[in-house]
Amino acid sequence: MYAREQTTSSPRYAQVATFMRLPLELAPTGRDAVVVGAPYDGGTSYRPGARLAPRQIRHESCLLHGVGIDRGPGVFDLLDVVDGGDIDLSPFDMQLAVDEATRALTRLAADNGAVLMLGGDHSLTLPAMRAAAAKHGPLAVLHLDAHSDTNEPVYGGLHHHGTPFRWGLEEGVIAPGALVQVGIRGHNPAPDSLDWVRSRGGRVVRADEVEGRAEVDALAAEIAGQLAGRPLYVSVDIDVLDPAFAPGTGTPAPGGLTSREVLRLLRVVGDLDPVGFDVMEVCPPYDVGGVTSLVAAEIGAELLYQYARSRPGTQHHTDSTTGGTPMTISVTEQPIVDVSGEEAALHALRTSLPEVPRADLHGYLERAVGSAEQLPDALAAQLDDFRARGNQEGYLLLTGLPQDADLPTTPTSTPAPTERPLIAGEAWLALVGGRLGLATGYEELRSGTVYHDVYPSPGAHYLSSETSETLLEFHTEMAYHRLQPRFVMLACSRADHEGKAATLVASIRNALPLMSHEAVDVLFDSPMPCNLDVAFRGGEDPGPQAQVTVLYGDREDPFLGYDRELLVPHDEAHARALEELSGALDQVTRSVQLHPGQLLIVDNYRTTHARTPFTPRWDGADRWLHRMYIRTRDLVPDGTRSGDVVAFVPR
Ligand code: MN
Ligand code: MN
Repeated sequence: MYAREQTTSSPRYAQVATFMRLPLELAPTGRDAVVVGAPYDGGTSYRPGARLAPRQIRHESCLLHGVGIDRGPGVFDLLDVVDGGDIDLSPFDMQLAVDEATRALTRLAADNGAVLMLGGDHSLTLPAMRAAAAKHGPLAVLHLDAHSDTNEPVYGGLHHHGTPFRWGLEEGVIAPGALVQVGIRGHNPAPDSLDWVRSRGGRVVRADEVEGRAEVDALAAEIAGQLAGRPLYVSVDIDVLDPAFAPGTGTPAPGGLTSREVLRLLRVVGDLDPVGFDVMEVCPPYDVGGVTSLVAAEIGAELLYQYARSRPGTQHHTDSTTGGTPMTISVTEQPIVDVSGEEAALHALRTSLPEVPRADLHGYLERAVGSAEQLPDALAAQLDDFRARGNQEGYLLLTGLPQDADLPTTPTSTPAPTERPLIAGEAWLALVGGRLGLATGYEELRSGTVYHDVYPSPGAHYLSSETSETLLEFHTEMAYHRLQPRFVMLACSRADHEGKAATLVASIRNALPLMSHEAVDVLFDSPMPCNLDVAFRGGEDPGPQAQVTVLYGDREDPFLGYDRELLVPHDEAHARALEELSGALDQVTRSVQLHPGQLLIVDNYRTTHARTPFTPRWDGADRWLHRMYIRTRDLVPDGTRSGDVVAFVPR
């Protein structure tokens, strides 16, 4: 798509200027990303001129190539991007402009992957966030700005460039607790306006809290923790930069961030789930030598890089010599095994299993262990290797498994009736699990059943609550249990309606290089008090009843026992080391959205996992997974059978 040859046939200052010399396509559809100009500055409170920015940013962006020494493959080899031209906005009527921008951006977002908007004044971020939320649901927002932009309306109008994040929170397009503002400083906003945004769960990071590489990296880790698990919108007001770097803006504020700090901070975006971007408030009439438009173009390019990095099939390299944040994009193998070519063989194995598994579960599972010997060779080899060595990401995703044509409605109670016929997802769990080891039930969980139906239930509604705390309940399954499962397997019969629910997995093999040697020293082979999940302790909380060793085994390639909610560090050194580990795990979090016909195997000794919220509809077609726990044969006493149920033994 990208006319690479143009860079050799035509000098960079020649031809009509589009963003980064991308092809121009008005009303684009089906693109990975679209760059669009929003030439409007009717919301400006001081120096006007941002309406001229899209043209000027495009002009300066012609110097940028889309490949670079610190970035790996070219961004336009990874993403299909076009310049979608400008949105036409009335310069005479603010409400008309906001409405028209909402309409145009909603259509662009619906028809394409992500939209990068070049402002324009900051009032237009509200329409852009509305468009992204209409497609993806309530947003997490990373907002870089000298100003909080959560002001009240003034001069009789509803909107101006100081209001978009107020209305974003009020309208619910920003999820409560999911706004992080960075770079805030100066004479406006007044201190009490920060109270307003904080009272709504927003986090405000002042400019003087972010100086230099170490503070930027620490902040990036915190941002990853707070904003992971939701669709992310990134809004950059160019005045977040010090006027020394960006003089061409309407309301400059001295004491801002450097270009290098902002570009480094934005590298966290690719670790998250970005869905939309903007760069606002460039005001060319006050610029000097085009530097403000140039840095705006560079920020836009960085955001496109980060978008490419966030997508499946691309993944970052980490600069392990410095323990720094991700530096480059590289295309890597995902831990995915596609078995769609093995339908006949898999079907035959399924029909070898009894049709009513719970009638004689031990007999059924024994049959599955036998049938697992006949799994297709390539799949069997992958499973054997994963059991023996694990992999870098700590999970294996099987896709293309045959599904039932006539799936029952999603259950609303547990356990499943004994007479329920076999479901395809359950068959694959038994066969794959039979290859890995022995299915295990836990007496205190789900009435000691071996197969768990995982479905939304009114009693578990807190999982959909809007607090950031419940989004990242990272845990290693039963870390505090001596008979902890080696693998956790999830098979999907139905995805959630909106396709939002994701399983998050963070691997210690990815996180360890980001940690200091001191923190590893503190955690390695050093037990830490741990509370028990309610299922194992009953109603009353007796406090920490187990001792969990967070890092253990091979010091260079350790196992992980981690629970964000339940671990209780017993001294300051352990608290700090655990915090460092948490930040590292946040940085290497991968998101897996399960679809029917997929089965996820989580390496429960090398990872921690969590699930993002979704909204049930109670229509019989809500998300439905099947779960099974596996212990490998080396972990169990002789005579243990697949399907045995064990009682709690605290570590
Ligand atoms: Mn500002
Ligand atoms: Mn602003």
